[in-house]
Amino acid sequence: MLRYLLRVTPAFSLTLFVSSLVSHVQACSLCEDAAEATFVGASAPVSVASAPAPALSSRPGAPYTVYLNFDGFTYSGNWAGRPPGTVPAYTGTSAQLTEAWARVAEKYAAFDVNVTTVDPSGFAPTDYLSRQNYYDTTARVMQTIIGGNNAWYNAGAGGVSYVDVFRDAHAAGSGYHTNWAFPLNLRNNQPKAVAEAVTHEAGHGFGLWHQTDYNLNPGNSYSTNGGATGDGSYAPQMGTTYNSQRGTWRVGTFGGGGGAFQNDVATILSNPGLSLAGSGGNTFDTATALPLTGSLLDSVGGVIVPLSESAPNPIGIENYSRDFFRFSLAAPGDVTLNLANGGDWITPGVAAPGATLRSRLNLYRADNRATPFAFGLEATDTMSSTFSAMLGAGDYFAEITSFGGYASTYDTTAKYFDMGSYTLRGAIIPVVVPEGGTFVLLGAGVAAFVVLRRRTGNRDARSGITCS
Ligand SMILES: [Zn+2]
Repeated sequence: MLRYLLRVTPAFSLTLFVSSLVSHVQACSLCEDAAEATFVGASAPVSVASAPAPALSSRPGAPYTVYLNFDGFTYSGNWAGRPPGTVPAYTGTSAQLTEAWARVAEKYAAFDVNVTTVDPSGFAPTDYLSRQNYYDTTARVMQTIIGGNNAWYNAGAGGVSYVDVFRDAHAAGSGYHTNWAFPLNLRNNQPKAVAEAVTHEAGHGFGLWHQTDYNLNPGNSYSTNGGATGDGSYAPQMGTTYNSQRGTWRVGTFGGGGGAFQNDVATILSNPGLSLAGSGGNTFDTATALPLTGSLLDSVGGVIVPLSESAPNPIGIENYSRDFFRFSLAAPGDVTLNLANGGDWITPGVAAPGATLRSRLNLYRADNRATPFAFGLEATDTMSSTFSAMLGAGDYFAEITSFGGYASTYDTTAKYFDMGSYTLRGAIIPVVVPEGGTFVLLGAGVAAFVVLRRRTGNRDARSGITCS
């Protein structure tokens, strides 16, 4: 089988590389990805971090491990014919490091993949050769070294990886289970840029090629979805996502495919032993009780995933999982639910930046499961939606699902997945209705409730209630 690789040179001209691969085991193609900023300085800093990266893991015990090495590394021999030598530690702040990890964790939240800063090798941090051999020879482990600039490799590169090498063990010295991001060439350590690059390089490891806009421009090597930026914008994770609000997995034409399509999610799932990892409570009957403490809803999170692992379809709400929560009101209550896209990777109860999901929040009465009576209103930045309304006594369900995917209007053959984590929080405040009087709020959670409500208009308009 022939596979083709488009490579961007420093001058951004395109060179077509052809490699002959008979199976993924023999994968030896490289994907080098363009830098996102020019490093300003005479040379890469050589200092190492004074303290190791905090121990952060998204899904310990998962069958696949993406190890984000922010601590620097001394690499023995050549990698892809070039000598990395000693690569310095990431020089961003601890907060930037944590955010970069959280953003990568979010990208892979829907998969049974552990994104971690904890070295899986078990060797001493300075036993670099043993660590290097461990990564090479251990299946389903990828070390991404995130440090310094691209001076040792190639000016113009933001990251580089072998393709389709993750699943198998390889010979020591192959370097197949090590790939690279150059944070000083990624908007000078910017967490979003670093995370987009790291996620992209890991995607190559899982077997993904670049997403392109072949039908519009056959020579295009990285789709930006027409340079999409701002609220609601999508760009393909395997294209260029530095400027879009969301960088997501996609079904679209891929580099070297001659117009053929790549389903990113299906390709990732073609790695043996790798599954989707959605959350539970997927039906009305298995709904999870909203965890309330007094009047306040303790935050609860979950992950929305495509329903099919064999043929995941990005378009259509019916093609995604649905999570249900139930709650009851013994008396009328003022109910606020805030559904934020993204997991609470950094601060409990607060969705971290870098969400990939665009979600819907629907409200049902227990006696009418067929039709929601209300929905959450999406904020203008599209990263959250809120339901807020007075409800009578009774039993209710809150449903969280995908918005149903994004069909590009730029390249109309490209379809983007709406999948990933969410964080739900809120308050249910009992209401007393005096004889002929005004509603009175009770309960200790009023202050938090007021914050969540963000009173900016007419109650019905804010709640999205379609009937009462
Ligand atoms: Zn690439």
